[in-house]
Amino acid sequence: MSAVVTLAPTPAPAVYEARAREGLEHLGLNVAHDHLDGATQRAAAESWSYSHFLGYLLDGELTERHRKTVALNLKFARLPMQKTLDGFDFAAQPSIDRRLIDELATGRFLHEGRNVVMLGPPGVGKTHLAIALGVRTCELGHRVRFTTAIDLANKLTKAVDAGRLDREMRTLTQPKLLILDEVGYLKFDAVQASLLFQVICQRYQRQQATVLTSNKAFGAWGQVFADDAVMASAALDRLLHRSTVINVKGDSYRLADRRKAGNPVAADAAADAAPAPTSRKE
Ligand code: ADP
Ligand code: MG
Repeated sequence: MSAVVTLAPTPAPAVYEARAREGLEHLGLNVAHDHLDGATQRAAAESWSYSHFLGYLLDGELTERHRKTVALNLKFARLPMQKTLDGFDFAAQPSIDRRLIDELATGRFLHEGRNVVMLGPPGVGKTHLAIALGVRTCELGHRVRFTTAIDLANKLTKAVDAGRLDREMRTLTQPKLLILDEVGYLKFDAVQASLLFQVICQRYQRQQATVLTSNKAFGAWGQVFADDAVMASAALDRLLHRSTVINVKGDSYRLADRRKAGNPVAADAAADAAPAPTSRKE
């Protein structure tokens, strides 16, 4: 007896239409799933090619995913305020080479593990630029963490006491970019200095970039590291090995702004002179 061969019937188009919906949902392509009907109608009405249709559907999905990633990155970064490169008045700050900032904005320094060190007096825009680079890094899809040097020292000291230094350290060493603001405003004790040193060492070993701001010239960094000149020079060695140093000069932007407007400057001068309330002031 010869075997009877039966061909599987080709499923009706409706089966594949349902499969498209299920498949998108199953793969977690929820935006594409929600836009499937609309996209199908437009494709038919405008005679799109198949690849045009597919690209359109995926573009919606990818755009929405990127938006969510950036929002999450910004939340994780804990930036103290929102500042952007567009909001920076380069004309008012001639000591900064715009091309250099534009190059940093490409994000190449992140992949090279290159540090950016901004030095200068208060009010000249160091924190503004550091935050703006942080926002840019978030937009490029990377994790960022912002901290002032004193917050870092306080958090890590508490973590040591609570026996969870490793966990706290990871929040500072894992992100693609660490922004370390106001290094040198306050003098550290020996424990704080060694904790800051560990963060710098670990990020250096991982080739992770750090953007750092300071009002102290490198020669005065011994004071930052509890008068330990050896530790200060070892920290600077690692920080500066792969780095871009930006010396920001000039008067406080706020004061200049107020002077232009003909307002008294005393209150702002006081604000610029006193960066953060603490008992460890020099
Ligand atoms: P620094 O960190 O150097 O002490 P900030 O970045 O905190 O200074 O700047 C003080 C204030 O002045 C911030 O509100 C900042 O946005 C603003 N600012 C400083 N420089 C500029 C600039 N060139 N263009 C626009 N805003 C500026
Ligand atoms: Mg600052």
